Amino acid sequence: MEELLRQIAEYRKEILAAVPDGAGALEAYRIRFLGTKGIVKSLFNEMKSVPNEKKKEFGLILNEFKQLAESTYASWKEKLGDGIADGTSAIDLTLPADRLPVGSRHPISIMRNNIIGIFQRLGFAVAEGPEIEDDWHNFTALNLPEHHPARDMQDTFYIHQHPDWLLRTHTSNIQIREMEKGRLPLRIVCPGRVYRNETISSRSHCFFHQLEGLYIDENVSFADLKQTLYYFVQEMYGGAVKIRFRPSYFPFTEPSAEMDISCQICHGAGCNVCKYSGWLEILGCGMVHPKVLENCGIDPDKYTGFAFGMGIERLALQKYGINDIRLFSENDTRFLQQFTSAI
Ligand SMILES: [Zn+2]
Repeated sequence: MEELLRQIAEYRKEILAAVPDGAGALEAYRIRFLGTKGIVKSLFNEMKSVPNEKKKEFGLILNEFKQLAESTYASWKEKLGDGIADGTSAIDLTLPADRLPVGSRHPISIMRNNIIGIFQRLGFAVAEGPEIEDDWHNFTALNLPEHHPARDMQDTFYIHQHPDWLLRTHTSNIQIREMEKGRLPLRIVCPGRVYRNETISSRSHCFFHQLEGLYIDENVSFADLKQTLYYFVQEMYGGAVKIRFRPSYFPFTEPSAEMDISCQICHGAGCNVCKYSGWLEILGCGMVHPKVLENCGIDPDKYTGFAFGMGIERLALQKYGINDIRLFSENDTRFLQQFTSAI
């Protein structure tokens, strides 16, 4: 009995000092103390040699020893399961942190912010307006009276319960609303979502984003328009970009023009992006029609102005080399994640 107690004390010291350095060492510990031929089992076998009056006392000591052997094994198994073997800490502070998934700006927002930033440096303010608009602000005030054939250029969604209301087909409604306020001179850009009843394809969608600009003051000329837009494309595409104007028609400007830039892919040599012309159309522009000024209560003999409008999707398609406009609104994270590093 005395000898058994001395042995148990030795084993206790061994267990308390044990530091298994891996799964192999832990298994060796298990076999030595807890195996079918292990120390705990053999000590229980010694019970029969203990005098009857000491059996209860010895049994308590033995059970306590068994629990120590088992709990030590369990705690080491848990620690080694976490990959921690040195026994100093369950937390390794040198491990890299878990990656936190952060969102990214949408490519349309990036492009819109870039454009706005350039015009803000020229003194343009940002103006916004309603997406559900009345006929006056979307069409009539813009020199597009009812039955005007140019209305057919823009297939329109009308509000069923209210025939005079519609989803705006351009952000020109903001220009009208700002001009009606009568605070001149006026220098604004108007970004926003617009809607047209078009078949959805890789090149067109039933909604897209526009950014229009308007400058009204005394003595504003086409030269001002040209220089403003030239500054814009130089900031946007770099100093080597070339521009050209082609005559066009819009009911709300006279004269009207489309502006092209030299193709940024082939630099004018011709490629499939520019359809081998060397030029890319990026916006429409012109001098504000005197009738539009009159409709907004502005004296066209005193004031002149220019306006321009561009599709943000079109610029983003060109800048990022995207070939399908539908990708912008499908919320596919594989597409959107590609813009995480952008501002
Ligand atoms: Zn090209």
